[in-house]
Amino acid sequence: MNQDIITVTSPLLPNLDEFQKLLEQIWESKWITNNGSFHQQLEEALCKYLGVPYISLFTNGTLPLITALQALHITGEVITTPYSFVATTHALWWNGIKPVFVDIDPKTGNIDPNKIEAAITPRTTAIMPVHVYGKPCATDSIQEIADKYGLKVIYDAAHAFGVKVNDQSIINAGDMATLSFHATKVFNTVEGGALVMHDEKTKKRIDYLKNFGFAGETEVVAPGINSKMDEIRSAYGLLNLRQVDAAIAARRQVAQTYRTALQHVEGISFWNDMPGVRHNYSYFPIFVNSEKYGLTRDELYFKMKSQGIWGRRYFYPLISEFSTYRGLEGANPSNLPQATKMANSVICLPMHHALSEEDIQRTIDCVIK
Ligand SMILES: *Cc1c(COP(=O)(O)O)cnc(C)c1O
Repeated sequence: MNQDIITVTSPLLPNLDEFQKLLEQIWESKWITNNGSFHQQLEEALCKYLGVPYISLFTNGTLPLITALQALHITGEVITTPYSFVATTHALWWNGIKPVFVDIDPKTGNIDPNKIEAAITPRTTAIMPVHVYGKPCATDSIQEIADKYGLKVIYDAAHAFGVKVNDQSIINAGDMATLSFHATKVFNTVEGGALVMHDEKTKKRIDYLKNFGFAGETEVVAPGINSKMDEIRSAYGLLNLRQVDAAIAARRQVAQTYRTALQHVEGISFWNDMPGVRHNYSYFPIFVNSEKYGLTRDELYFKMKSQGIWGRRYFYPLISEFSTYRGLEGANPSNLPQATKMANSVICLPMHHALSEEDIQRTIDCVIK
């Protein structure tokens, strides 16, 4: 019954026989978590693949956000974007920090650096931008503002696995950056995530924090948490890392097919690749102009759904619209016109490495009408 449904994503899965072999090694060693051999191998392999100096693996992509804020002693207010997955703002809230929402740049979907300074108060301590859909933020402008006001910058890079600008990993921008290896992401370890930092001292501190604050058998140096990745998912990740480039290449092909087919559809717009950027094609958002297209975004969304094409309205509603956050000053839609407009017009089309030509064509036909 499900065979006709085209989902927005599909997990990249390692070869089961190869995974079985690694599982046998784990069973043999009886070392199933706590910085085991596969954990160490995956950290090393990811540093190499991503072009980052230090990385610390986590059990999901939310805990590195929470832990980075702890490690940098961030308090008071943090400037962030409403156009993201809720975890970005939740991480602030869990640290007792007040999120201050700033509008986005409609050209990228990312926080608009020109609007950041007006939101800074004496209580502001950091900026938490998101490379939304893997599109690089204006990292230079953001850093300039951070330097001017003495703020930290923590990037939620959950969508930006493998993204490079002029051959440099985007994940190196800011004081720290986080990744998510959730099943729905370009690279997954079922659940998982990581924190990227620039020096060994910080890596050591993060490794304490993710292991209850233990700095030795009998020494606890901080009120840490438990967010370690285990050996089984580390081994799974090592295998998936070998095929992630092929998966990104397949996604690129899907993006190109969509772009060619949809470029002349009145009322449907999308982004092209940015010059100098190695994209990861993690999502394929289209934006519906209902007057020109003839259907509203939701009418198209439900029409797709009725035909078994399960796109997603990422990111609708805005984080600032959820009951938890909508009372905050700055959460009002009138303060966030571009984010509001994007949230009300977006549909992410099915996008993954295993879409068949038929799946892609069905999706295109449905959008073209
Ligand atoms: C997926 C995601 C997260 C959370 O990652 P989990 O691994 O699901 O905890 C955080 N931020 C953004 C932008 C995400 O898309």
